[in-house]
Amino acid sequence: MKDIKKTKTKAPVEPFKIKMVEIVNLPNQEQRTKAIEKAGYNTFLLNSDEVYIDLLTDSGTSAMSDNQWAGLMLGDEAYAGSKNFYNLEKSIQDVLGYKYVVPTHQGRGAEHLISAVLIEPKKNLVVVPRNMYFTTSKIHVEIQGGVMPDVIIDEAHDPENEHPFKGNVDLKKLKDVIEKVGAKKIPYVNVEMNVNMAGGQPVSMENLRQVRELCDSYNLKVVFDATRSSENAYFIQEREEGYSNKSIKEILNEMMSYSDACIYSAKKDGLVNIGGFLAANDEEIYEKARNLVVVYEGLHTYGGMAGRDMEALARGLREGADDRYLEYRIKQVRYLGEMLTNYGVPIVKPIGGHGVFLDALKFFPEMPRDQWPSQTLAASIYEESAIRTMERGAVSKGRDHKTGENIFPKLELVRITIPRRVYTNTQMEYVADSIIKIFEKREQIKGLKMVYEPEDLRFFQAKFEKI
Ligand SMILES: *Cc1c(COP(=O)(O)O)cnc(C)c1O
Repeated sequence: MKDIKKTKTKAPVEPFKIKMVEIVNLPNQEQRTKAIEKAGYNTFLLNSDEVYIDLLTDSGTSAMSDNQWAGLMLGDEAYAGSKNFYNLEKSIQDVLGYKYVVPTHQGRGAEHLISAVLIEPKKNLVVVPRNMYFTTSKIHVEIQGGVMPDVIIDEAHDPENEHPFKGNVDLKKLKDVIEKVGAKKIPYVNVEMNVNMAGGQPVSMENLRQVRELCDSYNLKVVFDATRSSENAYFIQEREEGYSNKSIKEILNEMMSYSDACIYSAKKDGLVNIGGFLAANDEEIYEKARNLVVVYEGLHTYGGMAGRDMEALARGLREGADDRYLEYRIKQVRYLGEMLTNYGVPIVKPIGGHGVFLDALKFFPEMPRDQWPSQTLAASIYEESAIRTMERGAVSKGRDHKTGENIFPKLELVRITIPRRVYTNTQMEYVADSIIKIFEKREQIKGLKMVYEPEDLRFFQAKFEKI
């Protein structure tokens, strides 16, 4: 292995010890070449036992602690009034500061509830402005007959820009939308923390406060997508004036105080494999969501979750908002990113909270867009090292519905998402080393041609061949 640690980049110290391990297979070169060819050079089509390090997603992939596993044994199978629900409610009240809690089977269940509760007249077009869309969040607004204009700051769209709070809402854009369509057409303003589609970029406390003030002046509700709020709170503690001496929990409580409600996918910062919830300070939202959850998810004291899952989440939410844990978490992602930038590998900057994003257009500057540079890079990483990453570029973007032409978005990325508490820092070094090796021989790497293309969401199933 190359000396990838030659610079000042240091691995963060783990705030845990490992008590159980899963043996993982590292296929040899011949097996890797065969596997990726059989998968049509699409990492989604690899079997997980062909993968050594799986960095496809950070969703539902966290390792639970002994404390959480012990909590599973205390799962209470009560249909109504499970004690685990009350533990979860207390944990959310304590960590996030909301008064009311409605559990759901996962994040999109809560998105369904909030859109159904707040978007009433399906006849009239409604508008839900948000700092960049997220797939499931957008579709739930659209199903209710709404649209979701993007009001994130322009810096978020520029992979070179080092703005410390690249997830911020552009207040002028937001005000313009409100003035243009009128406050009556806006059931709520939606603000995401550590914006997923922007690469895990945080929102500042000042920005949250200003969004609240602006919305108050128009009497608008503010709903957070607080899925990655703990990781966002770490960036506020690290970067924003006046917060370095505050605990993550104090910061989270202040953040959430600027909203009327939030939706939450517990599969990320909640450190569980499944679960979600809606939490609120607004009593009316809570009352309506509590009535609806019975229709779609389950009684309001389990909402589609088993008692044991609520217990694991009650504990995971607290562990995921621990100061020492978050420092390790964010710095592990940064460790990987810095090892890559030290070697000149082009990545999106600054390094975000849940992953590192490779810039495939800079990686393969000569490769034509219709030879799928991101797809090629993700496939090459697997072939080199049995590491699984994800294409996030033109293959994911798909075709224009009207013209049938491929859309080539500004960003051609490969997403390297890091599961929480799962891989060691040595494994991060292996990842960096493998990508650097490909970077060094990038001129010899040929693109791909698409040989099978499904109509919808083609990135899941498309197949390719080497040119
Ligand atoms: C994952 C995610 C969701 C959806 O949650 P699920 O638990 O996958 O249903 C919503 N918003 C954001 C920002 C997410 O990352």
